[in-house]
Amino acid sequence: MSTSPVASWLELSERAYATNVATFRSVAGQGRVGAVLKGNAYGHGLLETLALAHGRVDVLYVITPAEALAIRAWETQHGKPRTEVLVIGAVSASDCVELARQHVSVVAADRGFVDTVAALRSAGLKLDVHVHLDTGLGREGFTRAGLESGEADFFADARDVITVQGVLSHFANTEDVTEQDYARTQLGNFEAGVKLLQARAGVTQDVQRHFAASAAALVLPPARLDVVRVGISMYGLWPSPETRLSARVVLGTLPALEPVLAWKAPSQVVKWLPSGSYVGYGCTWRCAADTRVAVLPVGYWDGYPRLASGKAHVLVNGRRCAVLGRVMMNHLIVDVTHATKDEQPVVATLLGRDQEEQVSIETISGWAQTIHYETMTRLGPHLRRVVVP
Ligand SMILES: *Cc1c(COP(=O)(O)O)cnc(C)c1O
Repeated sequence: MSTSPVASWLELSERAYATNVATFRSVAGQGRVGAVLKGNAYGHGLLETLALAHGRVDVLYVITPAEALAIRAWETQHGKPRTEVLVIGAVSASDCVELARQHVSVVAADRGFVDTVAALRSAGLKLDVHVHLDTGLGREGFTRAGLESGEADFFADARDVITVQGVLSHFANTEDVTEQDYARTQLGNFEAGVKLLQARAGVTQDVQRHFAASAAALVLPPARLDVVRVGISMYGLWPSPETRLSARVVLGTLPALEPVLAWKAPSQVVKWLPSGSYVGYGCTWRCAADTRVAVLPVGYWDGYPRLASGKAHVLVNGRRCAVLGRVMMNHLIVDVTHATKDEQPVVATLLGRDQEEQVSIETISGWAQTIHYETMTRLGPHLRRVVVP
């Protein structure tokens, strides 16, 4: 899709990204640091973020085979060495054959993975695998009972085609709390699961263990293990206010996290509406005075949440400008009466900083009654994304 110059765009700050990687290097100590690029890199853009992450972090995590293959294609196109890529989402046997050819590792999470063993043998290919343990999230992964009943024993006989390179799990309740009791229980389950895999499934002593996403990496040191899988905080965002509070306590200081993303929109027109004019669908806003408005070519199609109607503001020339009436599919109308002196075009900051003012993704998500994870991943893939120094 071509993007018009009169369209909103996203800016990714390379400096902010580098700061966040450095923060996690220092948090992880000797451990390795991985970046999670699922969900179109949390809306930042897979390939644009890849340009920032490649060579800076040790491992890249994606959900789908297509994302992993896009990373390999980018590496070939840019003459970059192959970095470690792990598909943490569901994969079919035929996906695995293709991923094995491209030297991408995959996660095995249930006994259905035996089909992959068979497919690899007939294709004559080897694959690096990480075994997912369900330690209390109730999502994918071998459960304790499953391991005890022999569901993962097939790995012991699959060493001709499969190398178990890692064992992983995922926390259920690290972001919403300041006490990490449930996470510690999950860690205990994990160690028990790894022992079972070693005893029954031929998994070696030096297998790579990884468990922590952003929150646990920051606030639960025993969860850091061999690698941390950092999603949201590599983009400079706290998983939750609770995590931020805990980090101050656990680390003694607040680590530097810098938001990577800003969202800007040029005006398509700036004009006066006389007092008494209605604005937008449903005529939900009526101007109480002559009002200078800017019409912005951005709306809920682009990921600006309609639920923010009646609450939101954007920034123009360092001033807050209320979004008047409803957020539309392709338009926002904002009050720039006091933000500009004339009807020349303006550039509005929907997300990010403008002089002394800042709109955070948490603020927008609050207007929309959801979490920033959702708001970020709904940013339209069609939006133009530019990396700025
Ligand atoms: C999404 C995800 C992560 C990253 O989570 P954040 O909270 O964004 O850091 C890590 N591991 C797994 C398995 C995930 O699904």
